[in-house]
Amino acid sequence: MNSKGICILGATGTIGVNTLDVLARHPQRYHVVALSANSNVEKLVEQCLSVQPAYAVMVEEDAATQLEEKLKEKSCPTKVLSGKQALETIASLPEVDYVMAAIVGAAGLLPNLAAAEAGKRVMLANKESLVMSGKLFMDAIHNNRHKGAELLPIDSEHNAIFQSMPPLVNGDQQKAGVEKILLTASGGPFRTRDVATLNKVTPEQAVAHPNWVMGQKISVDSATMMNKGLEVIEACWLFDVPENKIQVVIHPQSMIHSMVSYNDGSVLAQLGNPDMRTPIAYALGYPERIASGVKALDIFEVARLDFEKPDFERCRCLQLAYDAHRLGGNATIALNAANEIAVEAFLNKKIRFTDIPLVIEKALEQAPAGTSAKINDILAQDLTSREYAKESVARLN
Ligand code: NAD
Ligand code: MG
Repeated sequence: MNSKGICILGATGTIGVNTLDVLARHPQRYHVVALSANSNVEKLVEQCLSVQPAYAVMVEEDAATQLEEKLKEKSCPTKVLSGKQALETIASLPEVDYVMAAIVGAAGLLPNLAAAEAGKRVMLANKESLVMSGKLFMDAIHNNRHKGAELLPIDSEHNAIFQSMPPLVNGDQQKAGVEKILLTASGGPFRTRDVATLNKVTPEQAVAHPNWVMGQKISVDSATMMNKGLEVIEACWLFDVPENKIQVVIHPQSMIHSMVSYNDGSVLAQLGNPDMRTPIAYALGYPERIASGVKALDIFEVARLDFEKPDFERCRCLQLAYDAHRLGGNATIALNAANEIAVEAFLNKKIRFTDIPLVIEKALEQAPAGTSAKINDILAQDLTSREYAKESVARLN
């Protein structure tokens, strides 16, 4: 078997580190061609010394200079590039077969599109890019299928849905008999906390997720349930279903990663320990299965599985995401942009936890109706919504 060339966008993050862990178990099957990070020099040096990629991208220029010097000291042959454009360069290198799209936030959009256009297998963790430009991104995958472009979801829920849908009918839910997607959610750290005290939540409490270890932004998104909101929109695009076919199910044990309900009464689910190496290994090996290092699920230890309906009053952000998707593409860009600004402001203690949905709601009011089809219009709407959200943050501060 030919060894596959891998590019990891966002190598120093939680998903990036887990991807390197799975790859290290299969040295004959894969080799790392390129790694990227925003500014974490120490971690990228360590990763470059370990896997010796041909290229490493550090988006921030000063950090790139430091990386270059440190790698030279250790005689590491990796070529260092810097700047946002370099992310697109490594995502489309001819020697790259698979791209792990694991940058957090809107910054992932252009490199992910470049990977699709270059005909890569895109292993998509960066849900924000689908929320911003679902149609454009899915079209880029479909239009470049002849070059080898394909999309495999890394988000554990979407990976579970993908596994629970027969591939031959993907894209034709009518024939497949798909009635509903049951998108599971742990409910986050404040599932049972008194709603009246949510305004007192600290960033430290919000990032402490009960079941998953994740980056700061997605951890706050899980606490507000915006993560589930973004995932509803992500599922609509990935599986070509309207939002009213997606039922969010609170499942505190996080053992079932999502389910698909069929018209004959069957419900298919994917279960496993909550560890991102399972979806990562699935996407890397597909259609084969490869070892991931994840401990087998002991169903006797799990013993019980609980399910609840979401409380939309507690989960205001989830409601806003459903509303935004119904409104159209400009609204989902505003939703994502304002959420990124609000989460950052909350982490920097500028606004309260309960202010996050207020900032997003204001940005949704500003977003024009309809959907932008061109990348420049999408990026412009993203910038406008960010400015608007920053003004809301300043007013609340
Ligand atoms: P993280 O914060 O741990 O890592 C983010 C990575 O992106 C880092 O390598 C960082 O250097 C890079 N980065 C940050 N800002 C950047 C910028 N402006 N330009 C270029 N690179 C930048 O995040 P994570 O938890 O690994 O999540 C990554 C993505 O995967 C997110 O979109 C998240 O929603 C999604 N995701 C994560 C998990 C999880 O379990 N961690 C699960 C499902 C989906
Ligand atoms: Mg998820």
